[in-house]
Amino acid sequence: MSQFEQFASDNYSGVCPQAWKAMEAANAKPEPAYGEDSWTLRAADSLRALFDTDCEVYFVFNGTAANSLSLASIGQSFHSVICHELAHIETDECGGPEFASNGSKLLLGQGPEGKLTPESIEHLVTKRTDIHYPKPKALSLTQATEVGTIYTPEELKVIKSVADKHRLNIHMDGARFANAVAALDVHPADITWKAGVDVLCFSGTKNGLAMGEAVVFFNRSLAEDFEWRCKQAGQLASKMRYISAPWCGLLENDTWLDNARHANACAARLANGLKDIPGVAFRYPRQANGLFVEMPEPVQEALRARGWRFYNFIGGAARLMCSWATTHERVDQFIADVRELMEQFPADQILHTA
Ligand SMILES: *Cc1c(COP(=O)(O)O)cnc(C)c1O
Repeated sequence: MSQFEQFASDNYSGVCPQAWKAMEAANAKPEPAYGEDSWTLRAADSLRALFDTDCEVYFVFNGTAANSLSLASIGQSFHSVICHELAHIETDECGGPEFASNGSKLLLGQGPEGKLTPESIEHLVTKRTDIHYPKPKALSLTQATEVGTIYTPEELKVIKSVADKHRLNIHMDGARFANAVAALDVHPADITWKAGVDVLCFSGTKNGLAMGEAVVFFNRSLAEDFEWRCKQAGQLASKMRYISAPWCGLLENDTWLDNARHANACAARLANGLKDIPGVAFRYPRQANGLFVEMPEPVQEALRARGWRFYNFIGGAARLMCSWATTHERVDQFIADVRELMEQFPADQILHTA
């Protein structure tokens, strides 16, 4: 295979045509700067309509900024944020949340399949209540999780009751929020403000934009002075319309949902094709647009030699991410390559690395 082929990440993909078109439309005439333009107003109004509530909406460049700044707006430097040990805010943001909050500590919880359990949250809140320990103030949930699983509305309900009991605000890292909505087939409100989420970082980038995340405050009091926080952090785009117009493109005609459904369906197709190949196993259940596959190391190497790209950063399993741009042909080609390579490697090698 001469071409570059990948399941490495949903952000390897390009910009979806609807977002691109909106970007072109925004380029047709001058508009006020710093978010005072008509596109930003329209995108924010579209998000309010989508969530069916009067939320506060801000746009920033990337997910690390969205998470870090929104978490900083929840608590003070002496507070702490409870998250799963695999959470992006812990493992992949270079200390951004602690930096933006001037030192709020992340308290790491556990739970199978990348999901925080109510018991784990309860344990972290109650194990210390003295003045020498950073006071838990927020809970951060990733939806869909870093390992491609999803919190169900029922699970969110139980978590909310724990959060209420201990007066924790709920932050949601929605890098793949669209994929979760598509997979659960729920109204976006059902797994956000109706489930007690105070602030959502809704990713446009992984859904089909060049860049741009929406920070959506359902708890509007937390948004006080947020624009100053964004400006100070270098996250106020002067030509904001080039972030917000593509958002309009995503939100119109539910393109965001179609993109997510397509990505999820590609991951399902991948799982379906790989599941019966002897020696191949899944580390986590496939619920959204990602699949974590265990294959012998030589097979992974041979796949890479054929030009396939994917990451192994979670315990050696190959992470296969699908996006709006993934095609069924590529999925089927990957499955065929895995099947062929698995047959080439002797069984003892497979057992050895399983
Ligand atoms: C991609 C991602 C983000 C955002 O990352 P940036 O590179 O800062 O845009 C946040 N959370 C999760 C779970 C992600 O996968």
